[in-house]
Amino acid sequence: MSEVRIVQNVLKHNDEIAAMNRERLREAGVFCIDLIGAPGCGKTALLEATIQQLHGRINLGVITGDLATDRDAQRISAGGAPVVQINTGKGCHLDANQVRHAIDGIDLDGLDTLIIENVGNLICPIGFDLGQDAKVGMFSVCGGDDKPAKHPHLVYAADLLLLNKIDLMKHVRFDRDVFRRDAKALNPDVELIELSVADGRIDRWLDWLVSRPQTARATADAGKGV
Ligand code: MG
Ligand code: ZN
Repeated sequence: MSEVRIVQNVLKHNDEIAAMNRERLREAGVFCIDLIGAPGCGKTALLEATIQQLHGRINLGVITGDLATDRDAQRISAGGAPVVQINTGKGCHLDANQVRHAIDGIDLDGLDTLIIENVGNLICPIGFDLGQDAKVGMFSVCGGDDKPAKHPHLVYAADLLLLNKIDLMKHVRFDRDVFRRDAKALNPDVELIELSVADGRIDRWLDWLVSRPQTARATADAGKGV
């Protein structure tokens, strides 16, 4: 069997499990987000700030993936949200089967939204469906304004792009217009939100996040003729 064939089989199997995850989350009325970004762009810090600022407006659960340690889970659980840590060892992305097992550790009935913090990586997490409703791509100004152009697949796949650490804009070489132009050229419909987790400027992200489950429920209800 050729290498390509094996990869295709792995992805097919992954997609089947992802469909099961999606069905399970939908039945529980949970909106699921796959958060993808490079190491250090601020994914975990954003989740900490989000949990702190939401103040019970929606019930959030988190699955977080890292090669090693439970440090992110420790940080996130300090805010009171249910969290499951996945350690991938040498694995550079999460797959649907890992997420399926992680979901077993979370009480879905108590949740509105589940955020999966993927392994810090802009490349292969994009190819693995986890059963999410939306993919969020996260960049930071420290990563440089060329990242959308260099990582087009994340931009294509994303429903929302976040640009973090805008408080550091004046200290690094970053052209906001280049970043925006490249992102919009690749995905004209993508929403782009600038934020500074360090300064607590995450309001637009919170608004987006809070409106998602309501939108999903309204769509589901409309489908049922409610
Ligand atoms: Mg993290
Ligand atoms: Zn990978």
